[in-house]
Amino acid sequence: MRPIGSTSTSYNRLITRHFDPIRRLSEITSTCGGRHERTELVGSTRVGAAPTRTAPAIKRRTVEREKIAVFARDRWTCRFCGSRTIDLRVLKLVSRAFPTEFPYHSHWKFGHSHLIYWTHSTSLEHVVPIARGGLDESSNFVTTCYACNDARGHYLLDELGWALREPTSSTWLGLTEYLPALKATRTRKPIPHI
Ligand SMILES: [Zn+2]
Repeated sequence: MRPIGSTSTSYNRLITRHFDPIRRLSEITSTCGGRHERTELVGSTRVGAAPTRTAPAIKRRTVEREKIAVFARDRWTCRFCGSRTIDLRVLKLVSRAFPTEFPYHSHWKFGHSHLIYWTHSTSLEHVVPIARGGLDESSNFVTTCYACNDARGHYLLDELGWALREPTSSTWLGLTEYLPALKATRTRKPIPHI
């Protein structure tokens, strides 16, 4: 396992390929936590008042399944830039196993999480942002890398000169094939910030 910062070369390459690196780093350091939370709230905004005690858990599972279905359809590949992404569950489990070498902070505190969380983690994005009238439903969901999700903000794709790529037929699974093995290595010892 490589230490934190060792992905800086690939990170810079990715950022340089798509964005101005200075602007991107500035945006990430100032907004990464909040934007991540926004992304994670995509599903939870759909959860209404619960008529029963078990309803919220069922709803959350439904939303999670819906999200994973979108990732599977898109083969964990960014529909904006075409990069392969890594499922966030995989990254968190690796951080749990190697908290020093591969750190993660639950609020994505910059400097306390490995850069790969910002460059390659899988995220769910709205094709048309909610703020621009987009629907919060599966027909408007696509898989993106976190870097594209974060950089895109509330802009329409046309406004950025971006185009939506067709789902790939790649065999890439976002490393989810390792989830069973990673889950099996989990210890009962709680890891801070996860
Ligand atoms: Zn991307």
